Amino acid sequence: MTAGPATRLLPGRPRVLVAVVAAATVLQVLLAATDLSPALERHSELLALPAYAGLVAVLRWRVATVHAERDVWQRLSLGALALAVLTLVGALLETVPATHDAGPVLAAWAPLAAYVFLYGGVVRWNRYGTEVADPDNLLTGVAAMLSWVALTQSAVDGFGGPESLTGSQVQPLVVHIAFAQLLFITTLMQRVLGDLRRDVRPVLIAVGFLGIELAACLVLAEVAAPAWGPVAGTFLCLVMAVAATIAPKPARSQPSDAATSMAGAFTVIVIGTGALIASAVGTASAVALVAGGSAVIAGGVRLLMGVRDLAQLTATRAEALTDHLTGLPNRRAVLRRMAEDGGRGPVTVFALLDLDRFKEVNDGLGHAAGDDLLCQVTARLTPVLRTGDLLGRLGGDEFAVVATVEDGASPEETAEHLCRRLRECFVEPFLLEDLAVHVGVSIGVTTGSPTGDDEGTAQLLREADAAMYDAKRGGGGHALYDRTRHSGDGTALTLVEELRAGIGEGQLVLHHQPQVDVGTGRVVGVEALVRWAHPRLGLLAPDRFLDLAEAHGLMGPLTDEVLDQAVRQLAAWRLDDPGLRLSVDLSASTLLDAGLPERLAALLDAVGVPAAALTLEVTEGVLLRDPERTRAVVGALRALGVEISIDDFGTGYCSLAYLRELSVSELKLDPSFTAGLLDDAPTEAIVASIIDLAHRLGLRVVAEGVADEVTLGRLAELGCDLTQGHLHGRPAPAPELEIGAGALRG
Ligand code: C2E
Ligand code: CA
Repeated sequence: MTAGPATRLLPGRPRVLVAVVAAATVLQVLLAATDLSPALERHSELLALPAYAGLVAVLRWRVATVHAERDVWQRLSLGALALAVLTLVGALLETVPATHDAGPVLAAWAPLAAYVFLYGGVVRWNRYGTEVADPDNLLTGVAAMLSWVALTQSAVDGFGGPESLTGSQVQPLVVHIAFAQLLFITTLMQRVLGDLRRDVRPVLIAVGFLGIELAACLVLAEVAAPAWGPVAGTFLCLVMAVAATIAPKPARSQPSDAATSMAGAFTVIVIGTGALIASAVGTASAVALVAGGSAVIAGGVRLLMGVRDLAQLTATRAEALTDHLTGLPNRRAVLRRMAEDGGRGPVTVFALLDLDRFKEVNDGLGHAAGDDLLCQVTARLTPVLRTGDLLGRLGGDEFAVVATVEDGASPEETAEHLCRRLRECFVEPFLLEDLAVHVGVSIGVTTGSPTGDDEGTAQLLREADAAMYDAKRGGGGHALYDRTRHSGDGTALTLVEELRAGIGEGQLVLHHQPQVDVGTGRVVGVEALVRWAHPRLGLLAPDRFLDLAEAHGLMGPLTDEVLDQAVRQLAAWRLDDPGLRLSVDLSASTLLDAGLPERLAALLDAVGVPAAALTLEVTEGVLLRDPERTRAVVGALRALGVEISIDDFGTGYCSLAYLRELSVSELKLDPSFTAGLLDDAPTEAIVASIIDLAHRLGLRVVAEGVADEVTLGRLAELGCDLTQGHLHGRPAPAPELEIGAGALRG
C-alpha cells in the first residue's frame, strides 16, 4: 500500500478480513478477464458477496474499536451492509422460478441503495460529531444525488445511449455513473478543503469510486463486458477496507453552519436546473426530468430551512449582544465594537463608568429599585452621546462608552468633554420608590488605538479600569489614564498584579477578633479577618484590596489561603481550648465556586478540625446573587457540617425563608443596630425582634461593633448570645490573643 511514511495502521487490524476482500477482488478480475460460461457470469454478483461481507466485518470492527470518526464509519458500514444484503436477496430471488426475473433487477439496483449511506458517511467525514447541528443532511444528500443523476441522464440522452443494452440495463448504469462521480468528487473535496489534507484515506476511497464510474462508463459505451461492474465493486470494497485499518489523524470536528448548508442547497438547485434545461433542449427523458425536478424541489426546501435557521441565528445574535435589563449593548458587544474600531485604525476614546452608591441602593431599597436606577441612568446617558458613540453596560453597575475623537479636538479634549457630559447626568437626584436619591459616578477614561485583537482591547479596558479606580479613590468624578503616572506604583492595576503574586508568596496575614459569650464573659470564638502585609505600602486593611480581588478573579485563591491559615490556627488553639469556634468571611464569588466544599473538606480532614467548629459568614446580598448556584454550594458546605452565619444581618433584603432553607446557624447583627441601640427606640425594637426571631428559629445572635459596657448590658438584657467589638478587643495577630480555657473579656 502506498500510504506514505506518515501513515500508521490501527492496532489489531483485521488482516484476515482484508485478505478475504482482496481474494474476492482477484477472483472477480479473473472471472471478468477470462471467457466465462454464461452460468458463472450470471452469478458474478453472488461471487462478489464475500467481498461485501468482508467489508462489512472490517467496518464494524472499525466502528467498535476506534472512537475517532466513528460516525463516518458507521454510515459507510451501513452502506456496505445494504450492499451485501440486497445482493444476497437478489441472488436468492433468482433461484425461485416465480421471482426469477426480479433477481437480476434487484442485483443491479442493490449497490445504488448503498450509495445513500456511503454519501452520508463521506459528507460527514469532515464534520463528524455534528449530528445535531445538521439534522437535514439527508435531504441535501438526496437532492445532490438526484441532481447528479439528472445531469448524467441528460448527458446520456444527448449521446443517444448504447444499442445492444436494454433500458433496464442502461438505467442502473447511469445512476452508478452519477453516484460514483458525485462520491468521487465529494471524497476528494474532503482532502482538498477539509481537515483531511495529507491523509491518504480519502484518496484511496476516491480511487475506488473512480473505478466504479469508469467501469460503468465502459460498460455503457459497450467497450467492456458487464462483468467488469462487479470487479469495480469489489475493488471499492478493498480500498475501503484498507482505509478503515489506517489510523486517523487527529482532526477537529467542524460544526456545519447555515451558510455552508445553504451554499450546498444552492449548488444542488443550479445543477438540477441545468439538467432540466439540458433535457428540455435535447430529447427529454423522463428520468432526467423527474430526477432534476425532484432535486430542484428538495434543494429549494433545504434553502427555505436555511433561511429559517439564519433568521433564528440573527435573533440569537442580537440577543447575545444585548443587555436584557437596559436594552443596551452588553459587554460582548462593547468589546466587539472596540476591536472593530481598532481594526479600522482611528483613535478611540474609551470611558468606564461605575456608579458610586449602587450597592447601598440595591441593599437598602431592594433589587427592583437597583434595576430601576440602572434603567434611569441609561435613559439619562443615552441622549448626551454623539452619533456613532456606543454606550453599553458591562455588567452590574458598570457602563462603558466607546467614542470617536471629535473633529478639531484632540483625543484628550474629546475625553474631557465626554466625561463632563456624562457627569452632568448625575447632578440631579434619581427618583427611586418616591425617594430622591443622589447617586454619584466614577469615570475612568483612556484614549488609544486598540490593535483590533483581544490583547489591544484588554489593554484599553485595563487602562480605563486603573483610571476609574483613581477616580473612585478621589471620591468620585473622573480621571484620565496617564501613562507615566499609572504605570507607576500604587495604582489599582499594579496592586492587582502585586496581590496576585503576594497571595502565593504568603503576604496575606490574618488578624483575629474575639467573640465573647454574653452570659459567661468567656471567649468562645474568633473571627478571622484578612490583612495584606504589602512589602512597600505596609499592612493594608481588607477594604484596600478585597474589591480588587473580587473584580479581578483573585477571590478564589485569596479565600483558599485565608481558610488554610485560619483552620490551621484554629487547630493550634483547640489544643488549649477544645470548644473554640472560628468564623471566616466568604465573598459573593466564593459561593459560586462548586469546588469549595470539597477543598474545604480535604483541609479540615488534613488538619483534624471538626467541621462544626468552623462558621462561614455570608452577607444577605450574596445569597441573592445567583440563588440556585449559591444554594447548591451552601447546601454542600452545610452537608460537611460547617455552620453558616448571615453577616450584617438586617441591612439587606434577605427573605426570611432563606434562614430555614439554608439551615443557617447564626445571625450577626449589623454594627449600625448596635450603635443605635441605646438612643433609638425603633432600633431597639428591631434588635429585640431579631433576637426573638433568631431564638425561635434555634439560631444564635452575635452583635457586632460592641464598643462599650452599657451597650453590652442592654444586649444581655435582650438575650443576645455573643458579642464582638472593640470592647473585647480589636482584631489582632494570633499570638496577641489570649485564647485558652477561662480567658475572660470585659
Ligand atoms: P465584617 O465581616 O463586618 O468584619 C468586622 C469589621 O468590623 C472588621 O473590619 C473589624 O475590624 C471591624 N470592627 C470590629 N469591632 C468593631 C468596633 O467595635 N467598632 C468598629 N467601628 N469596627 C469594628 P475589617 O477587619 O477592616 O474588615 C472589614 C471587612 O472586610 C469585614 O467586615 C469583611 O466583610 C471583610 N473581610 C475581612 N476579612 C475577610 C476575608 O478573609 N474574606 C472576605 N471575603 N472578607 C473579609
Ligand atoms: Ca464578618
